[in-house]
Formats: sequence, C-alpha cells, structure tokens
Amino acid sequence: MPLEWQDTRPPEPEARATYAIAVRFEPAMRAAISRAFRTLMNPTVLGEIRRALVIDGSLSSVMAVIPFYDPHRPRQEPWPIIRRDLSNIIRRTYMAAALDAAKRLIDKAGGERHLHKRDVVREAATQIYIDETVGSLIVLISNSQQEAVQRIVAAGTAAGINPLTTARQIKTTVGLLPRETKAVENRRALLASEGLSGVKLERAAERYAKKLHRLRAERIARTEMLDAQSAGRLNSWQTLQRDGFLPPNARRRWIAEGGSARTCPICLELDGQDIPLNGSYGIVDRPPAHVMCRCSETVYVPRRSGSVNVVTGL
Ligand SMILES: [Zn+2]
Repeated sequence: MPLEWQDTRPPEPEARATYAIAVRFEPAMRAAISRAFRTLMNPTVLGEIRRALVIDGSLSSVMAVIPFYDPHRPRQEPWPIIRRDLSNIIRRTYMAAALDAAKRLIDKAGGERHLHKRDVVREAATQIYIDETVGSLIVLISNSQQEAVQRIVAAGTAAGINPLTTARQIKTTVGLLPRETKAVENRRALLASEGLSGVKLERAAERYAKKLHRLRAERIARTEMLDAQSAGRLNSWQTLQRDGFLPPNARRRWIAEGGSARTCPICLELDGQDIPLNGSYGIVDRPPAHVMCRCSETVYVPRRSGSVNVVTGL
C-alpha cells in the first residue's frame, strides 16, 4: 500500500528496535527507489528531452520521449527492470519478517527452530502482496515524475526560459514531487537574488534537490518496509494457524507506539483492539495505519476465563 506523507520524521531511535527488519532492509529499498528514478530518466532520455525542448519546445513533444508507465504496456522498458528490482527487496523483507515471526512463536512453544520458507508463508498470498505493492509503487514513481516534468516545462514556456536551462532543471529534479520541485525553484530564485549565478547557482540548486530526493526516498522506503514486515508476519501467523500450530481462536491485537505526543489519534483509537487472525480492524487490516506509523501487533490465545495468554509480543 504505497502512500506518501510529507511532514514526518523517522521514528525515534528507541522505537526502532520494534522495526529491526524494516530498518535492516531500508537502505536497500532507498537505493532501489533512487535507481528506479534514474532508470526512468536515464542519460538517453534526458538527451532526448533536451533535443525535444530545443527543436520543438512543446510540452507534448517532451512528454512523448519519456517512457512513463502505461498499464496497457507493462513490459515497456524500463519498467520490467524497475519491477524486478523493487520486488526483490520487498520479497526479502517480507520473508525475513515471516520467518522471524514464526521462529518467535515456535521458540515460545519450545518447538523445532529449523524452518523453511514454505512452512511459514503461503506463496500465493506473498505474490499477490508483492505484485500489488510494486504495481502501486511504479504508478507513484511514474506519476510523480510526469507531474514534475509537466510543471517545469509549463513554467519554463510561460517565463520564456532558455530550453537548455529547462532541460537542466528537469535533470536536477528527477525523483522529486511537484511540491519539492517548486521548493528547488524557490531556492534557486533566492540564491540568484543573493547574487549567485552560473555554475555556482546550478551546483547549489542541485545539492538542495539531492537532499530533498534523499529524504523522499527515505520516506517511501521506511513506509514500504514497515508494510512488508507487517504483511509478512501476518501471513506467517495465518499459515501457522492453518497448519494447526496456532489454535482457531488465536487473535491479534493492535499495539500503538505510546508515550509520545506524535502518536496519532487513529492509532490511539486502534490501540488494544483485538480481532481474529483473518479479521480486519475496520479502517485497516494491519499496521501501518498511515505513512510512518509506528504501530505493531501481537498474537495471543484467549483463555476460557477471559484472561489472555500473550504468546509473543514483538
Ligand atoms: Zn500507528
């Protein structure tokens, strides 16, 4: 469920222990997202954009040379490469989380620790999750780039900017949201008004754009890794229940990351709610409830008396 949330910071260091697996795979995901943008807007494409701007200058001629994602032509380059790259990281995170969840449960029961991935997840559910998640990510990457390019070309045309400058601006803003592209433009205008010009001005704008790009890739990666971790664990619990390791009445409970003014009202509301393993919390089926959500879940088996026996508490 790719989402984007603009104005949050990563969890506090003490909250990171909960997300050990998500955090472990996050740098690889961040790199994969940056790679996806660079693959879409590669030097050949950037060269063609430049040519289109110089020769014709129209928005449509520029857009025509960029291979934006077309759901009717999913095999068009470069999307199969991007899809493979993103799928690989998401699968690794998902499987690591599923194996970890199963090991924790089996350890508590004093059982056999040697597990194969076939024992802990249903492959069909895994593949559906990966395909849907990567599909949405690809649309997010393509659409945001499309909007950014449209914005720059329209602004450049309206202001009568030299096509080569417009081409350079497109190169600088690869991977940024329209809002962030605007921030780079504002920064460039500010620096120009302070007397910076030429190569120095361009370098400063590029540095700022790179910083924004790093933060954006981090936001997407953090959220996607938390989602993959949560989905992998749930698949594992459901598989163990199906195979009789967990009883049919096993339940899972929402745990909000408490003790912080930043815990959002949605998560406080969900805190402590419990549902069957195949159930739903209503607004969501499992954490995260939103981008950068720090919530978790636990699985437990209710006792007859009404008291509960917490099996695991990751
Ligand atoms: Zn939350």
